[in-house]
Amino acid sequence: MRELVRKIVILDVFPHPNADRLEIVKYDGWNVVVKKGEFKKGDPAFAFEIDSVLPVVPEFEFLRKGCHIKRGWLPEGEGFRLHTIRLRGQVSQGLVVKDIADDSVIDRVVKYDPPVPACLSGMARGNWPDFLCKTDQERCQNLVSEISEAVDNADMFEVTVKLDGSSCTFALCDGEFYVCSRNVNLKTNQEGNSFVDMARKLGIEEKLRKHGHNIAIQGELMGPGIQGNREGLSELQFFAFDVYDIEDQSYWGSNERMLFIESIGLKHVPVLGIRCLPLGGVAALLAEADGPSLNNPIREGLVFKRDDGAFSFKAISNQFLLQEK
Ligand code: AMP
Ligand code: MN
Repeated sequence: MRELVRKIVILDVFPHPNADRLEIVKYDGWNVVVKKGEFKKGDPAFAFEIDSVLPVVPEFEFLRKGCHIKRGWLPEGEGFRLHTIRLRGQVSQGLVVKDIADDSVIDRVVKYDPPVPACLSGMARGNWPDFLCKTDQERCQNLVSEISEAVDNADMFEVTVKLDGSSCTFALCDGEFYVCSRNVNLKTNQEGNSFVDMARKLGIEEKLRKHGHNIAIQGELMGPGIQGNREGLSELQFFAFDVYDIEDQSYWGSNERMLFIESIGLKHVPVLGIRCLPLGGVAALLAEADGPSLNNPIREGLVFKRDDGAFSFKAISNQFLLQEK
């Protein structure tokens, strides 16, 4: 995981097209609207990424109006969550400041996580299995040089629609069946947990035993009660996006995975194609990220996976982020 707060260098400063007293600064692949004259190209600064929750301290009080949230899981019970916003028509993501009065503030910044609904929490069986990989994806804005290298090398990527549900992993390892949510290894004999219930409904354990190898199927659980069910599904559904070989510790390629997922009667996330990255880098990826998902004209974004399975990232649609509550 990359840091939510980083020391950065301002790469560029642009005039704001609609506001005399504002400017746009660029760092990595991010654009942030700031007060005019505050930064010049090459200045060091601190940047807070979107979805950082900042502690309630005087220097951040100016965020209270738009960003204050109260949540039990926050270390201090409350904080200021940074959203994607438009300022006079320009997209602004996160916060850039010259300095931080007290460095200890940085350690109090946490990542915003939406509350986990009861149907997904369930009883834990133990720690996250060390033979499995989590499904997290890095944002393209943080991978500018890696992406430009992949463009130069004409690397091929599978492009899939990012479905906004809840991450789920089913695995068989040395005869033992596992069901995991994004971070929790769940007891597989419980009832009323949507991940475990879905594994049972789809007969995943039997399917994996029949296949015989130590593999994991990872995907997104979608439907009523999850992330506002923006696809309007009438019941819970599982969409696979990865198959992981536990022995080799590597991901299966796109074709092999799609064929396997289909052969065992599961759904796959929509695949838009296998192709090179657009020449325009992060800006072009973000433009591609806007578009429809299954049933919603505004999707969360896209996930790009290189064909060697060793590099992947997400491009979250700004259209999606701007309409998010
Ligand atoms: P985020 O939810 O923003 O942390 O992004 C990473 C998550 O996106 C993963 O943990 C998956 O659960 C989810 N996801 C949804 N659709 C896809 C997809 N097509 N490929 C990979 N991950 C996906
Ligand atoms: Mn998600």
